[in-house]
Amino acid sequence: MNIVKTKNLTFEYIRRDEEGNVEGITTAVDNVSLGVKQGDFVAILGHNGSGKSTLAKHINAILTPTEGTVWVDGMDTSDDGNVWNIRQRAGMVFQNPDNQIIGQVVEEDVGFGPENIGVPTKEIWERVEESLRAVGMYEYRKYSPNKLSGGQKQRVSIAGVLAMHPKCIVLDEPTAMLDPSGRKEVIRAVRALNEVENMTVILITHYMEEIIHADRVFVMDNGSIAMEGTPREIFSQVEKLKSLRLDVPQVTLLAYELKQRGIELPDGILTTEELVAALGL
Ligand code: ADP
Ligand code: MG
Repeated sequence: MNIVKTKNLTFEYIRRDEEGNVEGITTAVDNVSLGVKQGDFVAILGHNGSGKSTLAKHINAILTPTEGTVWVDGMDTSDDGNVWNIRQRAGMVFQNPDNQIIGQVVEEDVGFGPENIGVPTKEIWERVEESLRAVGMYEYRKYSPNKLSGGQKQRVSIAGVLAMHPKCIVLDEPTAMLDPSGRKEVIRAVRALNEVENMTVILITHYMEEIIHADRVFVMDNGSIAMEGTPREIFSQVEKLKSLRLDVPQVTLLAYELKQRGIELPDGILTTEELVAALGL
C-alpha cells in the first residue's frame, strides 16, 4: 500500500499587494502524481527552486494542494479533520537543527512530541530511549543540545520525530548545513531506520552521494518530476542530470568519462568498489 500518494498535485504561491490584488503566481509544484510504498527509501533530488520543499510540506499538511489530492496513509490532507492524524503518521525534519531543538537537555527535547500528544509518562521514556538508540545518540541523552555538533543535533531532531512513532519520515535537506562527517552520520542513521526499523523514508537532498542507497529516486525540475528510477538508472543518464543542473557523483562521472574514451564499462557505476571491479583492477 502507498503510505504517501499524490494525484495531479499542483501548488501555486500567490503574491498579493496591500489591497489584496494578485501581483504574481508561482507554480511551485506542477501536476505531480507519485506514490511511496510503506518501507520504501525514496530520494527527491532537484536544484534550488525546483519545488522539493513545497512538495514535502504537502506530506504533513503544512500546505494543501491548489489542485489535485495528497493522501497520507489513505487520509486526504485537504480534509481539516485529518491534519492531527497525518502529522503523527508523517514526521518532518528540516535543514537547520537549531530551529528544531527546543529542550535544554537532549532526552527532554525528544520527549516533547509524545508529551504533547498525551502519551503516558512511562511510555514517553521508553520512546525517548528507543528513539535515541535508533540514531546512535543514547549516550548523549543528558547533554545540553548546544554542546553537540550539527550532525548530532540533527540526529536528535530525527529522534524527536521517531518518538512520535510515525510511519513515514520526510527529511528536507537535513544535511545541507552539516560538514562532511556530520552528513555521513545523519545519512547512516537514516539508512538504519529504513533498513532496521522498516521506516518509510523520503529524503530530499541535492547531494547525489546521499541517494545511492535509495530504492527509488525522483528528480524534480520546475515543479515537475523530470526523472524517476533507481539510483543506477538515474546515474546512467549523466547528460540529462547535467542538463537539470545536478552534479553526478565523482566516481560515476569518472566511469562515464572513461567510457566516452572507449573503455568498456557498465552504465551507472555508483561506488569506487564497483568501478575497481569493472576495470578488473
Ligand atoms: P526547493 O525546495 O526545490 O528549493 P521550493 O519548493 O522551496 O523549492 O520552491 C519552489 C518555487 O516556489 C520557487 O520558485 C520558489 O521561489 C517559490 N516559493 C517557495 N516558497 C515560497 C513562498 N513562501 N512564497 C512564494 N514563493 C515561494
Ligand atoms: Mg527546499
